[in-house]
Amino acid sequence: MSRRKKIYEGKAKTLYEGPEPGTLVQYFKDDATAFNAEKRDVIEGKGVLNNRLSEFFMTGLGQIGVPTHFLKRINMREQLIRAVEIIPLEVIVRNYAAGSMAKRLGMEEGTVLPRPIVEFSYKDDSLGDPLVPEEYIIALGWASQQDLDDMVALALRVNDFMAGVMYGVGIKLVDFKIEIGRLYEGDFQRLVVADEISPDSCRLWDLETGQKLDKDVFRRDLGNLADAYTEVARRLGVLPQNAPQPSKPTLIN
Ligand code: UDP
Repeated sequence: MSRRKKIYEGKAKTLYEGPEPGTLVQYFKDDATAFNAEKRDVIEGKGVLNNRLSEFFMTGLGQIGVPTHFLKRINMREQLIRAVEIIPLEVIVRNYAAGSMAKRLGMEEGTVLPRPIVEFSYKDDSLGDPLVPEEYIIALGWASQQDLDDMVALALRVNDFMAGVMYGVGIKLVDFKIEIGRLYEGDFQRLVVADEISPDSCRLWDLETGQKLDKDVFRRDLGNLADAYTEVARRLGVLPQNAPQPSKPTLIN
């Protein structure tokens, strides 16, 4: 069997050439990194869970008319996606203050924001993904004003969908990050949600207990990351059969 061509290897995923032009295969690894890859570990089963969860969210977004790069899940760790040109910006939406925002402004984590806030970071690990004002993005030619307006609108639609889905399973969507790509179709170009949507790139807190069910469990050494992601998948009804089961006994009420 011929080896397929690796297009790109990131911290949590690898991209391979797809079976047809304009497609790629996205492989989810078990690697977890934080603080610009200063902290790293391998969390068995994380890739399987994120593949399923990202499929679940991207499919749902597609069903409500939000365009994404997702085509189909191929197996436990891989999905077929459309090849897009990733805009080198992390688009972050916040509903509650947490993480870098809480730190920068001296706000208590969990403070509700008067409205969702959309912000952009420049995707560059060597610079630590710095926050960039929209003015910089326009002036430096990374995106047009129209693109920026479209990105904000797309991000807010994703926020409404994700916040609603999470609320339905007793989880608060504190904040999240998405990446957006340009999809070329003949002479036309449109912006679509790309990369992944998973607990690696969201902050998810249990509505009642405030328990963290996202990558902060790894960043802040709060317990077993796979258990937290398994709980999110279980509540959403997308638990794959061979995923790691929670290591602790669960109390049944
Ligand atoms: N985030 C991400 N990748 C990054 C930076 C942030 O997925 O490189 C996500 C993060 O998980 C959180 C949201 O974006 O859900 C906001 O992150 P924040 O700016 O607070 O940064 P952090 O505290 O994670 O450094």
